[in-house]
Amino acid sequence: MRFRVLTACLFCGFFLLPGQSPAQPLVAVSIRPLHSLAAGVMEGVGDPELIFKSGASPHSASLRPSQARLLSRAGVVFWAGALLEPHLGKALTAMETGHILALHRAAGMVLLRPRPAGTGEFPPFPLQGRGKVEPGTETGSGGRAAFDPHYWLDPRNARVMVAAMAKVLALRDPPNAGAYRKNSLRMGKALERLERELAARLAPLAGRPYLVFHDAYQYFERRFGLRPLGAIVADGLGQPGVRRISNLLRLIRSRRVKCVFTEPQFPARILRALTGEAAIVRGVLDPLGSSLKPGKALYFRMMRQMGESFRRCLMAERP
Ligand SMILES: [Zn+2]
Repeated sequence: MRFRVLTACLFCGFFLLPGQSPAQPLVAVSIRPLHSLAAGVMEGVGDPELIFKSGASPHSASLRPSQARLLSRAGVVFWAGALLEPHLGKALTAMETGHILALHRAAGMVLLRPRPAGTGEFPPFPLQGRGKVEPGTETGSGGRAAFDPHYWLDPRNARVMVAAMAKVLALRDPPNAGAYRKNSLRMGKALERLERELAARLAPLAGRPYLVFHDAYQYFERRFGLRPLGAIVADGLGQPGVRRISNLLRLIRSRRVKCVFTEPQFPARILRALTGEAAIVRGVLDPLGSSLKPGKALYFRMMRQMGESFRRCLMAERP
């Protein structure tokens, strides 16, 4: 009997863990914020597995053998798409697993165009990218990315993702469909409250100039009326060039930038080179919640932490 169940599982892509019913798929989720949303949807039913536990930059993280094994056992995979996670994308196309959902494809997602980043300076406000991008395409004209892949930082997108996750899980695990739906409705309400709370906290910061470390925050910034002037490094690249640095220094002086953000994933020495002499407050933004315990509360903590980082840096006493 045991043998038969295991044989069946070779074909159905399910893997049995203690506490899971045979019909319940193993759910694997790539990065912490998305894993957190899935954990909320699955509350009381099971726990999703987190593929990238370390919080390393998903732009460059490659798949370890243990992570590849996890994927091969998974019945459902939620991930952010190949624009954010190119290495995971390669692994997923090579495998035959159950249900794979790149969450930017969920119906109703608001996707924004990437901002031009050659010189480090963003286009004047209102930000370019007003035009929404249709989900489904990842590369636009000239092979450029069709959208900015840090889309989970808009709580409205989080609501869309939660609903999409609940639908997929209900399809793969019909006996628990009711629980997934109920959880997703509860999560949706909590995300609405989070948005209102952050909007109130961040309203006083509108229009204050700052620089971010890499251009990961436009979903958050647009939702809450924040106005960055530029980014220090381009996505996925470690070092800004000489031209970019001199351009950013000019920007810091001419626009009286008093706040520059770094990120836990990136080396601080680039920031020191840039802000060493200027009287500038350095903040930290963590778009992955990499210092937080994975689980359903992580997304909410990460967003609040981000909001408080913006407040601390932008409302600091001007040196
Ligand atoms: Zn990024």
